[in-house]
Amino acid sequence: MLTVNAYAAPSATAPLVPTTVERRDVGPHDVLIEIKYAGICHSDISNARSEWGPSAYPLVPGHEIAGVVTEVGAEVSRHAVGDRVGVGCMVESCRECESCLRGEEQYCLPGNTLTYGAVDKDGTITQGGYSTHVVVTEDFVVRIPDALGLDEAAPLLCAGITTYSPLRRWGAGPGRKVAVIGLGGLGHMAVKLAHAMGAEVTVLSQSLKKMDDGLRLGADHYHATSDPTTFEQLAGTFDLIVNTVSAKLDLDAYLGLLAVNGALVNVGAPAEPLSVQVFSLILRGRSFAGSLIGGIRETQEMLDFCAGHGIGSEIEIIPADKINEAYERVMASDVRYRFVIDTSTLA
Ligand code: NAP
Ligand code: ZN
Repeated sequence: MLTVNAYAAPSATAPLVPTTVERRDVGPHDVLIEIKYAGICHSDISNARSEWGPSAYPLVPGHEIAGVVTEVGAEVSRHAVGDRVGVGCMVESCRECESCLRGEEQYCLPGNTLTYGAVDKDGTITQGGYSTHVVVTEDFVVRIPDALGLDEAAPLLCAGITTYSPLRRWGAGPGRKVAVIGLGGLGHMAVKLAHAMGAEVTVLSQSLKKMDDGLRLGADHYHATSDPTTFEQLAGTFDLIVNTVSAKLDLDAYLGLLAVNGALVNVGAPAEPLSVQVFSLILRGRSFAGSLIGGIRETQEMLDFCAGHGIGSEIEIIPADKINEAYERVMASDVRYRFVIDTSTLA
């Protein structure tokens, strides 16, 4: 067993503090990864604060992991010592159900093993990427292409795949009008990816404060949702709207922006229920859907797509002792556009 430095939430209400966690011995199919960078996802905050139900404490968050392989098990064939690799939100699944066989391990029917706060096969609780090392079975480790820096690649492991997957599934591409609600960690990736896929991209943000950034990231249009004329001006416009907002929104107002047969896909995960007037859907054949991260194969495809298009995340690198401050800034929508922990500061 390896004892490694980490940062953990001791309870739902206390700030995160330095700690240590145990990593299992490297099994025949495992790789040991020296973590270099770990992104801070809004979901880390929701989990650390038990917003979606009780979490197991102490909880080491972090499911946007980028690092280097330092040891491999005897049977490992996909990765070698020195490889640049990433780990996202899952570290294992049943591998046998319909979803897993389709490559959609995120929808594993008996339930996959999340990177942190989940019961692992050996009965221990998984602990995430706010730490210096992690041991993961090789099939849940992806390759980070050389064209991407490890720091800018870390957020792709959640924010990247969570937006890439619905953009692909709902056909973002040339001739399609795509809107992104919320220009945060997920939102800024959605803008970059949808633009690279060839779609006409609109940002719907609370204000115009980040408009210059939005246009630089690849948006064609930028509107403030605090301005009621936005909803009149854009009525019936979009083929696809990706909602990345972590809070409750007036869905009917946004559904009104969809064209006939358009879809609004929620990736944002507020704790409160969202309500819909069915007429917002049925009168124009619209859909309201949800999407969870993406499978391992698709995560690799997304990383290769990003490398091919020169797409990384826009990041602010922080030392570990700034994690609590970063959490407050994320909660205040003051993130441009992902905080990434330099895990060497955990040493
Ligand atoms: P984030 O960086 O905090 O971005 C969320 C953005 O939503 C903010 O930057 C802000 O953008 C907007 N926003 C925040 N509060 C708002 C409010 N009250 N009203 C309107 N807009 C508001 O968070 P993130 O890391 O991108 O995550 C976004 C959500 O996705 C979270 O709920 C997270 O848990 C969830 N998530 C889901 C998946 C999945 O698989 N489905 C994966 C990862 C994360 P503006 O300032 O531009 O308005
Ligand atoms: Zn995440």
